[in-house]
Amino acid sequence: MENETINSPGYDIPDDIKNNIAVTTIDRLYNWGRRSSVWPLMFGLACCAIEMIAAQTARYDMSRFGMEVMRPTPRQADMLLVSGTVTKKMLPSIVRLYNQMPEPKYVVAMGACASSGGPFKEGYNVVAGIDKFLPVDVYIPGCPPTPQALIAGLIKLQEKIDKQSIRTAPWYSKMKDPNYVPMPILGPDLIDVRRNAEIRDAAATKESA
Ligand code: SF4
Repeated sequence: MENETINSPGYDIPDDIKNNIAVTTIDRLYNWGRRSSVWPLMFGLACCAIEMIAAQTARYDMSRFGMEVMRPTPRQADMLLVSGTVTKKMLPSIVRLYNQMPEPKYVVAMGACASSGGPFKEGYNVVAGIDKFLPVDVYIPGCPPTPQALIAGLIKLQEKIDKQSIRTAPWYSKMKDPNYVPMPILGPDLIDVRRNAEIRDAAATKESA
């Protein structure tokens, strides 16, 4: 962090000590640490994921943002990058991954499909936007967004983190797991994961008949 950036606590610092000591706030230091080491969960859903992979190559160098470490487990990730079409079949798994991520965590909807269903909106098997189920922090338009657009979206996420405060952040609230998202129930034409045993029994009965 530049001296000018860290040394701006919101009140005047005497000139004679300005360049010798750093006066800042806990929020600024804390946000700087978090925004500079956001670890995305390594998973992709459709064609947008190819652009996400391209963004991780040397040409775009995500290390500049501290985001090059894509974690293979939700326990070690703090950003869910929804890159592609969200089908109703995949949705329960995505919600489960989100719930398994520790706080603080962020969701980025990459592309038209993740933001609104895209070209498959109104399709029988497609969710019209992941924000129907998860709290999205940043939407990135495009079909697909280019790696540059993805990086612009991630910079927006960093700006959002910069504005957060420990005092008001939901993950420090006394409420138990304030961002917990219940597993979705998707309707009679789709599988309700909580009724898996019942569905398996019905299928077995039908096969044996
Ligand atoms: S937004 Fe376009 S490129 Fe991205 S997953 Fe949907 S169809 Fe594919």
